[in-house]
Amino acid sequence: MNDENFVQVKNLRKVYENGHEAIKDVSFSVKKGDLVCLLGPSGCGKTTIFNMLAGLLTPTSGDILFDGKSVVKTAPKDRQIGYVFQNYALYPHMTVLQNVMFPLTVGKNKRPKAEAEKVARKYMNLTQIDEFADQKPDQLSGGQQQRVAIARALVQEPKILLMDEPLSNLDARLRLKIREEIRSLVKKVGITTLFVTHDQEEALSIGDKIILFNDGVIQQDDLGQNLYSEPNNYFVANFVGNPVIDNFSVEVKDGKVTGSDFEIAVSDLKQDRFKHELKDGKYVLSVRPENILPAESGNVKVTIQDIELIGRERILKFNHDGIQARSLVDLETPIKAGDNINLKMRLDRIFIFTPEGERVY
Ligand code: ATP
Repeated sequence: MNDENFVQVKNLRKVYENGHEAIKDVSFSVKKGDLVCLLGPSGCGKTTIFNMLAGLLTPTSGDILFDGKSVVKTAPKDRQIGYVFQNYALYPHMTVLQNVMFPLTVGKNKRPKAEAEKVARKYMNLTQIDEFADQKPDQLSGGQQQRVAIARALVQEPKILLMDEPLSNLDARLRLKIREEIRSLVKKVGITTLFVTHDQEEALSIGDKIILFNDGVIQQDDLGQNLYSEPNNYFVANFVGNPVIDNFSVEVKDGKVTGSDFEIAVSDLKQDRFKHELKDGKYVLSVRPENILPAESGNVKVTIQDIELIGRERILKFNHDGIQARSLVDLETPIKAGDNINLKMRLDRIFIFTPEGERVY
């Protein structure tokens, strides 16, 4: 019935006792069965939101609804939430099977032992940890412990799964593998999942959509590809993308956008990309490194300082106006450090922001 708004957060605020407003009037919703990433830099309020969803923190104001019902007055154990913590929080003295069964052996979810074991084995099978049933957590790798934590969170068959930076204790290669596994697992189980991360690549790869926060405010609630190619503001454009976006200071005057050594006619910009009128004044012109490329006809003259190889592409690094910027090219492009070249921007892919970060183009 509430599939589109299975999780609904309405005008949520949290002011801590010291007066710090960590969450400022946040509203969003999550569709049933979706995996949504809450993304943002350290201190933006991700954990605060999570703890309010889980019932570990009381909101200062606003509402949280699961499947159409307000849960702000519901105790954590009655919210039908599964929670996977950053450090897994497994019981070291218990075997894997005992850890996974544990939620079904205590409290109001207590079931007969044989039944608890049957359900536990079902989720151990789904998470592919059957073979470790009799081992203790410290005999498992980080990735295997992670799967135990997920199986234990799923065993109560919660309505919603909350994962707080679940991959942060794993090494880089394993993170890539486990994030794919997590996505395929939660899709197989069909559970609505909120996944907290500060890693934009992780969020882009795993999320059905991403809610990007900064300073307690949602900056963009959108598909990952839209955060990348149609950022709402300067913060989003700079937080998402690797290599990071290039930013050039420009001035708009007499129908021209003028940088330190380039000029673009405003009439050459695509009219349907303007969000607001481009009045005269100072702005930041931003362009992703794959959209500023070497070309004879380019009007940005630069000296390549350094080249970084990233697998099947290379990043040409140059200084522009005292700030490092980048152009992303394929391996065949015959350019070396020290070369003086011209770069050309794709005018239908650049962004123009006010000094306050509002997107104008
Ligand atoms: P991280 O990625 O580093 O975990 P986060 O996005 O999860 O960060 P929160 O832990 O939600 O951020 O913190 C949001 C803001 O609220 C931060 O500025 C933090 O310093 C502040 N904060 C967190 N807990 C408290 C508290 N108990 N009292 C006062 N301020 C707090």
